[in-house]
Amino acid sequence: MNVQVNVNLKPFHTFGIDIPCDFLVEAANVDDVIDAYQNPQWKQLPKLILGKGSNVLFTEPFHGVIITNQLLGKKVTESDKLFHLHIAGGEDWPSLVEWTLSQGIYGLENLALIPGCVGSAPIQNIGAYGVEFKDVCEYVEYLDLDTLTITRLNSDQCLFAYRDSVFKQSLLGKVVIVAVGLKLNKAWKANLSYGPLQAEKDILTTPQAIFDLVCDIRRSKLPDPSVTGNAGSFFKNPVITTENFNRLKTAYPELSGYPMTEGGVKIAAGWLIDRCGLKGHQIGGAQVHPQQALVIVNAGEATSKDILDLAWFIRQTVSHKYGVDLEHEVRFFDSEHETNLNNIFTENHV
Ligand code: NAP
Repeated sequence: MNVQVNVNLKPFHTFGIDIPCDFLVEAANVDDVIDAYQNPQWKQLPKLILGKGSNVLFTEPFHGVIITNQLLGKKVTESDKLFHLHIAGGEDWPSLVEWTLSQGIYGLENLALIPGCVGSAPIQNIGAYGVEFKDVCEYVEYLDLDTLTITRLNSDQCLFAYRDSVFKQSLLGKVVIVAVGLKLNKAWKANLSYGPLQAEKDILTTPQAIFDLVCDIRRSKLPDPSVTGNAGSFFKNPVITTENFNRLKTAYPELSGYPMTEGGVKIAAGWLIDRCGLKGHQIGGAQVHPQQALVIVNAGEATSKDILDLAWFIRQTVSHKYGVDLEHEVRFFDSEHETNLNNIFTENHV
């Protein structure tokens, strides 16, 4: 187990902000994770598991132990109609998608190029272009941080919902995801339900063609975090009541809405932010991406406070104009705990 003291987290999160943590542990296997949690010197210290850091904002220096998930390994078995993949939590999601295609295993192509670890994918039930993690999930294995034993949940037990799961609810902070099981049909069927894929349906006859198009669209719309720091979509698409949607649609006929199976109507957060005229809006080094309103970028030397001030400004502006409260998809951590914009601005901020 590799332990570092007083570490700058800049290379460990995609916002690329200079911010320190007290201890950083690289966990190459489950025993390393257990050792970090059992170390008597760190007993009282807060601990945080970090994947690729592609969906986090450190709002303050972290006074505890950060454990990076470096658990690696991929195993494929087959049944009559399915490929079954057992993938360790520290594997890189975009690399996994590419690897499956190279192995002739299809079904992940719509989820190409979503940054992050395999072990992070179930937490927010990642999704793109009509496919969600839950559609391909067979099980999730986690280390219980109380009992230090491994438990396997089937897909139903994960309580997947829109960008949500049991890992963001009752199991929050209590487990480390060590592996996921995926099931992918041997008989491939394209999912072209989303507009940008539907528009090209005549040429999207292979998984590779879908993969290539999704990669092209994402590269053209989303800033590359290795060049410009960002954490992807900053806010979730809000799901509002049908009555609320009808009210907004009357006032703004060009608003699109997508009815959800669990009720309510999803609207695009990026559209709301864009229509508030906020593309390119900057506070300090934090900027609303000029091409993609849903992304906040580190335009150069941004501090966490710059990002927070901009996020709060966006939230307030959208709330005043549309009466819709945006929730952030990016997870915030202060010196010890997970936190959120409301806590920061309504309780602590001066
Ligand atoms: P977009 O095409 O500009 O569309 C804006 C929003 O409208 C999307 O977020 C999408 O919701 C929704 N939408 C569009 N067509 C839809 C349909 N046919 N049915 C239901 N909802 C529809 O979106 P974008 O920002 O460029 O993102 C493209 C895709 O990549 C989206 O699916 C987005 O979720 C995904 N993405 C995912 C992540 C992540 O998992 N963290 C990060 C970045 C982008 P949905 O977001 O629910 O699909």
